[in-house]
Amino acid sequence: MHASAEPAHGQAAQAAPFITLRNVAKTFVRDATAFKALSDASFDVRAGEFVSLVGPSGCGKSTLLRILAGLLTADEGSIVSIGGPGNPFTPGRDVGIAFQQPLLLKWRRVVENVMLPAEILGLPLRESRERARDLLDLVGLLQAERKYPYELSGGMQQRVAIARALVHDPKLVLMDEPFGALDALTRERMNVELLRIWEKSGKTIVLVTHGIGEAVFLGQRVVVLTAGPARMAADIPIDLPPRRTLELKTSEAFGAYSRHIYGLLGMS
Ligand code: ADP
Ligand code: MG
Repeated sequence: MHASAEPAHGQAAQAAPFITLRNVAKTFVRDATAFKALSDASFDVRAGEFVSLVGPSGCGKSTLLRILAGLLTADEGSIVSIGGPGNPFTPGRDVGIAFQQPLLLKWRRVVENVMLPAEILGLPLRESRERARDLLDLVGLLQAERKYPYELSGGMQQRVAIARALVHDPKLVLMDEPFGALDALTRERMNVELLRIWEKSGKTIVLVTHGIGEAVFLGQRVVVLTAGPARMAADIPIDLPPRRTLELKTSEAFGAYSRHIYGLLGMS
């Protein structure tokens, strides 16, 4: 177990842990055989921090995210605390999730799709609509609020899905390969967009990706998971300027972080 729970640079380092994960493991039973999808994951996430989770396909990233979302329980002996003292946390109410596919309801207009989590939670409709419109503005889609999903490009739909993940003002935003289905250029633009949203909203974000460059570019920390057997390999603070631009990807420091992670994943 090489993981360390070093504080990230910047403001987040001062905040108390918001998520505390200790030795989280999950075993699935498949065809009467136990299969360990995740073992010994331990790390902290501070309030307002952006943490990337990176690892090869099938290494347990989604499993870990589903445990954080409260959609799946960790096996016995694991401790997961979210919220911390004085910051009560209700899964569902306090979590916003964006998946690889936007999963918009095709019979609802864009603004009504964004409002959905607020509706499900029974929040006041008028305020929710206002908030949905503010968020559409934030993701640059206010002019599309009355459109239907089929009228939008893939990147626009994914931006709608991100606005939807934020509409009920969750304390924690979980993103599972949210840009996986996009072409490379749109994906880079979305990365920059997401950083801007994060800066403006001050949310705590955990983002799962198999893109090493994306993980380094976005994260204040990168948690590396490896496969066979699934385990947590490292927890790396990314000491790059907080205001990140695409030029950063050509810098020596960016390359060094990426090479280090490729190495941990046995890909160098
Ligand atoms: P990743 O998101 O990193 O690709 P997942 O967390 O989805 O990986 O899955 C990790 C492993 O656990 C995979 O081998 C997957 O097939 C298996 N797995 C995930 N969910 C279940 C489940 N509900 N039942 C059985 N096996 C599962
Ligand atoms: Mg996955």
